[in-house]
Amino acid sequence: MSTFLSPLCDTLDTLIALADPKVIQRGEDYHRGGVVRILRRSPDGRFAAEVSASADSSYRVFVKTDGGSILDYGCDCPYDANPVCKHLVAVFRAIQCGEFDETPYTEDWRTAQSDNFIIFTTALDALEHCNNTEAKAALDIISRCCLEAETPSERKIILERCLRICADSVFVKKPGLSVSLLRACAVLVSEKNIHRFYEALDGLKSGGQELTLLRQELSARVYG
Ligand SMILES: [Zn+2]
Repeated sequence: MSTFLSPLCDTLDTLIALADPKVIQRGEDYHRGGVVRILRRSPDGRFAAEVSASADSSYRVFVKTDGGSILDYGCDCPYDANPVCKHLVAVFRAIQCGEFDETPYTEDWRTAQSDNFIIFTTALDALEHCNNTEAKAALDIISRCCLEAETPSERKIILERCLRICADSVFVKKPGLSVSLLRACAVLVSEKNIHRFYEALDGLKSGGQELTLLRQELSARVYG
């Protein structure tokens, strides 16, 4: 099965082995059944996938790698008994079989013309590493992707990734950037998830006035 990058394939095997045996079986069936509809890899080793087993279920999967090891991964389905769900198993197998397209946009994330979710992940990655001027451009793109996210599952995974990154060490040291990121995805706030925004704001060590303002903005969006 390992037709591509053997260190990565081994890491994926290790992750798959963590899953429940029934989940592994379902994921393998999904993979063989061609349920991984879109799978793209950017040149710096990030994968984004859409897994759709039926007309009314479609989930987004991301896998972030440095070529050999896995840095982060996730799926926006409701399964939470184990970090590895059947969609991830299916995507891991597809990656091992080399069944992905290379994304053409990444020469320049600023002018990306691709799937909304992929543009989002590229801009979010850029935000982690770029300087202040570029951060503004990345935040604009993230904000646009939040607006253009079409499905509830896409909105959910975009928000999850933004919230998760706010707790990252790079961002904790730059509360201003975290506030800007939360503001960029404020369009996704709802009565159901506003507490998550508040938790993220509470986690920031400083930010003073900006934090208070954003809190008010979020509350106004949800409660009018
Ligand atoms: Zn899943």
